[in-house]
Amino acid sequence: MPDHYRVEACVTNAHFCFPVPESEQILLDTVRKLAGEFAAVAAEYDERAEIAVGHLDSLHHAGVNRAVLPAAVGGGGLSYLGFGQLVRILAAADPSTATIWTMHTGAGVALAELTFQTRGAFFAEEFLAGKRFANALSEPASGNRFLAPQQDAVARGSDWTLSGAKRFVSGAEIADYLLVNARVDGVPTFFGVVPDETVTVIPIWDTLGLRATRSQLLEFHDTVLPAEFRGRAPGPGDFAVIPAGLPGISLGIADAALAALIAHAQSRIILDRPLSHQQWVQHEVADVQAKLAAAHALYEQALWQADHGIPLFFPTLDRAKYLANKVAVEVAQLGVRIGGASGYLKRSPIQRHLRDAEAGQLMAYSTEVLASSMGAEVLGVE
Ligand SMILES: Cc1cc2nc3c(=O)[nH]c(=O)nc-3n(C[C@H](O)[C@H](O)[C@H](O)COP(=O)(O)OP(=O)(O)OC[C@H]3O[C@@H](n4cnc5c(N)ncnc54)[C@H](O)[C@@H]3O)c2cc1C
Repeated sequence: MPDHYRVEACVTNAHFCFPVPESEQILLDTVRKLAGEFAAVAAEYDERAEIAVGHLDSLHHAGVNRAVLPAAVGGGGLSYLGFGQLVRILAAADPSTATIWTMHTGAGVALAELTFQTRGAFFAEEFLAGKRFANALSEPASGNRFLAPQQDAVARGSDWTLSGAKRFVSGAEIADYLLVNARVDGVPTFFGVVPDETVTVIPIWDTLGLRATRSQLLEFHDTVLPAEFRGRAPGPGDFAVIPAGLPGISLGIADAALAALIAHAQSRIILDRPLSHQQWVQHEVADVQAKLAAAHALYEQALWQADHGIPLFFPTLDRAKYLANKVAVEVAQLGVRIGGASGYLKRSPIQRHLRDAEAGQLMAYSTEVLASSMGAEVLGVE
């Protein structure tokens, strides 16, 4: 193994991680320290359904945004393996912050890359300066297929305009720039948009889980989609932030849920013995822990493939997301059983992990959509 690599017990010691370069480990160590602070207040932000803006600022000042921007557009060019560890560390501590940051990064990196030939340098500079980005892609009529917009942009001079709605835009209320897609001449097309008075936030976000993402509905009223901020379609070689980040969010939630149930099983004494000594608890924990370790390993494989330019990494990421989404719910459900009524209390982290775990399956591509494409592929159905 080269000298500049060191093996790190990644998020927990219960699963394998490919090593990442020393420089990335230093960043990850900083993020681990911040994550400890985020975890201490995650429940309060969740309760208030408030975006932890200070957490996002701390991440920016720690150099996380610079690190994740690809080198080709002026950033640090973090590896996929490093990115995957980062998202899991954040999600285990505070999954809402992890989700907003992943969405912010996805939109910022995409705008820098997709407009590379025109205004890419501008978006990269804004991203490095700490401006906030959000993805306004999902539409009421597109269902889970957020890359297939059903709304048409209307030509106005050299620009276009959009009237309609985008929904579940994480961090919409604090965004300086939106990544928006709409059909131009029938073709899905991406734009950078500065939200102005033509963009209205409809405050629908009072949810079961990931409450502090404040993923609101946005209404667009003749909003200008500027020609100068029009991007090309995403393609091979672009840093696939969202597909690479979403499995990590569920795995981080699962790690936190497992840690919470272990702590409870070890500390709860029933008839003079810790709950962890009961055989059914050991068997059930063994089952979910083995599945969780497998999901981490598949995720690591996908990230490794992505770092090595192996095109198969997208199908592997699909499977990693599918598995991670389901395993997170399984671990969190077991937490509720092991937690008993005390785990059901609002003050227990166990109930929050279950609420958060459920959201992973909904975020595109949902487990149903992934199952359809994976199943068809396996069965050779066109
Ligand atoms: C916490 C959270 C954060 C989010 N953040 C963002 C964001 O920042 N930006 C953004 O653009 N979007 C975001 N989304 C939206 C998300 O990615 C989905 O696009 C959106 O949730 C889909 O709409 P829906 O949940 O109402 O489900 P629906 O589309 O109404 O789906 C209902 C059911 O039908 C299934 N289904 C839907 N479409 C298909 C299909 N084509 N084939 C088979 N089954 C299908 C679904 O799996 C589900 O079971 C977020 C969602 C959540 C929950």
